[in-house]
Amino acid sequence: MFGTSWRVGRIAGIEVRVDSSWVVIALLITYSMYLQVSQVYQDISAGEAVWIGVLATVLFFGSVLVHELAHAVVAQARGIRVQDITLFLFGGATRAKVESRGPGDEFLIALVGPLTSGLLAGLFGIVTGLGRDVLSRPLAGTFGYLAWTNLLLAGFNLVPGFPLDGGRLLRAALWRATGSLARATRVASMAGQGVGWLLVAAGVAWLLAGDLAGGIWFAFIGWFLVQAARSSYQDLQLQQLLRGVEAEAVMASDLVRIPPELSLQEAVDDYFMRYDHSGFPVEEGGRTIGLLTLRGVRRVPREQWPTRRVRDHMVPLNEQVVVAPEARMDGVVGKLQDGQANRVLVVEDGEVVGIITPSDLTRWLRRWQALDSSAR
Ligand SMILES: [Zn+2]
Repeated sequence: MFGTSWRVGRIAGIEVRVDSSWVVIALLITYSMYLQVSQVYQDISAGEAVWIGVLATVLFFGSVLVHELAHAVVAQARGIRVQDITLFLFGGATRAKVESRGPGDEFLIALVGPLTSGLLAGLFGIVTGLGRDVLSRPLAGTFGYLAWTNLLLAGFNLVPGFPLDGGRLLRAALWRATGSLARATRVASMAGQGVGWLLVAAGVAWLLAGDLAGGIWFAFIGWFLVQAARSSYQDLQLQQLLRGVEAEAVMASDLVRIPPELSLQEAVDDYFMRYDHSGFPVEEGGRTIGLLTLRGVRRVPREQWPTRRVRDHMVPLNEQVVVAPEARMDGVVGKLQDGQANRVLVVEDGEVVGIITPSDLTRWLRRWQALDSSAR
């Protein structure tokens, strides 16, 4: 769903990332604030207008970050691990595995976001009121604007369309009522798609009425919501499918083993160029002692390949992510997504019996889909 994102820091043990789309939006907001401030306050200097534009943008994204942190902190307090927070477009996403815990936790975690935005709106409102005599008029006006923006953020997030917070509240309520997460997600994501299409329609109407910028914004947000609602439902379907599948069924078991004394050049010529694998188990005396990966080889300059040994550039077995053959695939996929290794080894009685990479999973899914559609 996201493009490139950068790690910007860690707050309360949670990794905070910024999506590349954010840069464009930040510039746009700064510029439009600058324009607005210089139009409303005729006597303002250009320098002050730029300064206020930057300040408003920083506080706006700070507000979004605080909203997301509220979700993350409550999730962690309920014992749910949070992967990271990514700020993108004008919003954010907190990645946590809430689904596994039940409707009560999901309700609480979803609710705290809009509540926090409401609280921030109140705070900015108070600053505006108190600062009227102390702050310059443009500055007080900017805080007032931020109060409204946070109120809008709270309101928009409460719209009952999944994956917005309101949609999560709806899903949690349906989940509790029906006892079925799948059915609750289906209805909530249908609502999300419905709301998304409504926004698209409103955007088009606005566009036809002559408001180009407003119309495009609405249509874009609506389209984004439709896509997000659709893909969150598909993710859940996939997760449920994988819950019934064991690692053994998906893993590549046609392992080609490589001796540790080979040079990297021989490993490249006789293994990487010959087989469709990006990693080979290194075997010594009948046991796997490590894994030689394409990434590991690439780290060594090409002219040194003939003189370097596989043994010195393999990743030891104990540094690999390992699962049992009967591990459920939904958990394995979680490990594939978490780790930077991009690969899970399937180990039985201390011996590597298979490897699962994202492409093994894709291949398995393609076979499954082909069989599933022919069975219908
Ligand atoms: Zn939220």
